[in-house]
Amino acid sequence: MSNPSTLTLAPQATPVAKPLAIPLRAILPWALFSSLIFLLALYFIGVEQGALAIFNGTDVHEFVHDSRHLLSFPCH
Ligand SMILES: [Zn+2]
Repeated sequence: MSNPSTLTLAPQATPVAKPLAIPLRAILPWALFSSLIFLLALYFIGVEQGALAIFNGTDVHEFVHDSRHLLSFPCH
């Protein structure tokens, strides 16, 4: 028989798992890499034409043409 002083009707607290903490040092290289990829994509979609063009011709411009209009960059 158990000791009546230890009995309780309140539900026992269950331990709650801590949320997964990802250290900043682990995220930072991926954040920089994805930012670089994003900025490169934004450059080729938005600015790669005319005087700022890296590649001659309009191949890059035509390839991302629909993206330019989707993102409201001035085009033609
Ligand atoms: Zn256009």
